[in-house]
Amino acid sequence: MGGVVVGPGCRTPVVDHWGATGLVSDTTLLLDLDGASVIRVERYEDGGRRVHLATADASARACPACEVFASRVKGSATTQPRDLPYSERELELLWHKRRWFCREPACPSKPFTEQIPQIPAGKRLTGRLRSVAGRRIRDAGSTVVQAARDLHLSWPTVMNAFKAAARQVVEAPLS
Ligand SMILES: [Zn+2]
Repeated sequence: MGGVVVGPGCRTPVVDHWGATGLVSDTTLLLDLDGASVIRVERYEDGGRRVHLATADASARACPACEVFASRVKGSATTQPRDLPYSERELELLWHKRRWFCREPACPSKPFTEQIPQIPAGKRLTGRLRSVAGRRIRDAGSTVVQAARDLHLSWPTVMNAFKAAARQVVEAPLS
C-alpha cells in the first residue's frame, strides 16, 4: 500500500519514499504530517478518532547537543500533540516516540526524545496549527479571542503564534 503523490497539473504518480519507514501508507498521506507516519487509527463510539503515530524521520534521533545520530534506544515516550481540526469530530494524535542515549564520549548530552520539525521538543502543538493560528490574525483579520475559540487554543498560545507570524513578515527580505 504505497502512497502515491500526483503533482498539480501532472498526472504521473510518484511513489514517495519517506525517512526511516520506507513507503508511505495512504493514511499517512491523508494526515500529511511531515516526519510522522500513521501506524493505527481507532474510532470511538462518539465518532472521535485517535491516530497512533510513529516517527518517520531519521534525523529525529540526532543528538540535540552534538548532532551525531544516536544508536542506543533508552526507552519510549508518548505525547499527544495538538493538530489542526480535521473534521467536525475530534481527531486525537498519539505520538509513540523513542528515547535515545548519545554514546559520543565527549558529548555532555543526557538521554533525549525524538523530535521532528513539525513537533519540536517540548512543543505541544504541531507547527502547522501554530502557523494557521498566527495567520488567522495576521492575514485574515481575526481577533485573538476568535482564533483561540475556533481552534480550541488558549489566548496566550494564539498571541504567541501571531507574534511569530508577524515576525516572519518583518524579517522577510525586501525584493
Ligand atoms: Zn551527543
